Amino acid sequence: MTDLSDSSTASGRTSQTPAGKPGPRLPFGGILLVVAYVALLCSPLVVAGLMRPRTQQSFLWELGKSFALVGVVVLVLQFVLAARLRGTTRHFGLDAVLRFHRGMAILAVVLIALHPVLLALGGGGWSLLTSVRMPWYIWLGKTALLLLVIQALAALLRRTVRLSFETWRGLHNQALVILALVLLHSWVAGTDLRHRPMQALWLGLFTAAVSIYAYHKLCVPWQGRRRAYRVSDVQRETHNTWSLTLKPPQGTHRFPFLPGQFHFVSLYRGDRYDGEEHPFTISSGPLEHNVLRSTIKASGDFTSTVGNTRPGDRVRVQGPFGRFSHLLHPEETDLVFIAGGIGITPLMSMLRYMRDTDADLRVLLLYGNRTEEDIVFGEELEAMARLPASRLKVVHVLSNAALGWDGERGYIDQECILRHCGEEVSRKAFYICGPPPMMDLVSRALRSLGVPADGLHSERFSL
Ligand SMILES: Cc1cc2nc3c(=O)[nH]c(=O)nc-3n(C[C@H](O)[C@H](O)[C@H](O)COP(=O)(O)OP(=O)(O)OC[C@H]3O[C@@H](n4cnc5c(N)ncnc54)[C@H](O)[C@@H]3O)c2cc1C
Repeated sequence: MTDLSDSSTASGRTSQTPAGKPGPRLPFGGILLVVAYVALLCSPLVVAGLMRPRTQQSFLWELGKSFALVGVVVLVLQFVLAARLRGTTRHFGLDAVLRFHRGMAILAVVLIALHPVLLALGGGGWSLLTSVRMPWYIWLGKTALLLLVIQALAALLRRTVRLSFETWRGLHNQALVILALVLLHSWVAGTDLRHRPMQALWLGLFTAAVSIYAYHKLCVPWQGRRRAYRVSDVQRETHNTWSLTLKPPQGTHRFPFLPGQFHFVSLYRGDRYDGEEHPFTISSGPLEHNVLRSTIKASGDFTSTVGNTRPGDRVRVQGPFGRFSHLLHPEETDLVFIAGGIGITPLMSMLRYMRDTDADLRVLLLYGNRTEEDIVFGEELEAMARLPASRLKVVHVLSNAALGWDGERGYIDQECILRHCGEEVSRKAFYICGPPPMMDLVSRALRSLGVPADGLHSERFSL
């Protein structure tokens, strides 16, 4: 079958169902990417090593120059990592790629910040850092470093200083300015850049970064607008949750996806284009005919307006992404799904797919909510469990249950899991999705019950 894990197709045109179970991915592609990444990081050092004439400069001075060269390549490659390219995300999953992107951003800041310090220590003198009488290209370098540090602090402290996601993203989008400043600074100030091979490498890397940025920020959205989906149905699921059903343009097929995957969605409501792109799980099953559905809980600026969406509104869609799908682990047959609140959506897509394919899998669903009114898909889950051949058992756990509730109360903790999974808990495969505190609690409980790391799969609703 086509490999659907983490692709970035704006609109698929062929088959719309997973046609069979994919096996685990061969690691070659992933290893190749890691090797290519490391090779690119080392490339300026190799070129500089071959080109640099013997100098009388100190070791620290040379180290400072090398840190800058590698730091700049890390920066350039950040554009590739952030562009949601199928070639990168399919091997590791978008969330892992973005985690790596964040880690490498810190490395880039450290390397680039150490560059002037090492030059100063290596013979340049502290005036390099403190003097204001500097050539313009040194000021460009200093400005780039300052912007880079601001970006890194904004990313690290976003939640602590309550920076809105939109403000953070606006700031993050200035990355191209930093790149331009870095290019100019290094081109004029860098002695290594006087050699043709290094110039060719630099131009190649910077052109690639700008092209990939343009592809990600302009081409993909433009394609998505041209092939915009339409909202065909808006259904209220609970007091604060809605399902939007989306249809591809007339005569085309929606992209194929695996149950549990997600897509990015931007809405044009009436004349208004929100512009905001948000990730949502595709809660429908892959066998539902030519539609994509997302079930969205009002939890912030954008999501609390989802109920205002109307049939006919246009939607830009990009997907599918993600590797949170039982189809990627065909060896697992005894599954426990643990959902908290709206975290039910990817698990629901998997359950719908199992129902539609009469899958012979044992599934226990532990579904935590505050009250009975918060349960999404309650009736459909009951109906699924009642099907004659069904091996699904649903257990609702309410933390703030009304007096008459005779089900589980409290939180999904170690005791609750043991009560329902029994002694064989460590032989089962777990799929967890919910609020971060709940996921942390459950993961810790499962690890202490002896569940191995490869039996734990989870999806966090934050990228
Ligand atoms: C893989 C994945 C699957 C998801 N599936 C669902 C789902 O099925 N149903 C559902 O209700 N929610 C889902 N979410 C969460 C949903 O994306 C956020 O709740 C929503 O984007 C919040 O936007 P807001 O403006 O309403 O909230 P805000 O209060 O503005 O933001 C709350 C938090 O959501 C995140 N966020 C906000 N805007 C964006 C954005 N444009 N892109 C990425 N993250 C953003 C940020 O971490 C932010 O701090 C999913 C998230 C991810 C990452």
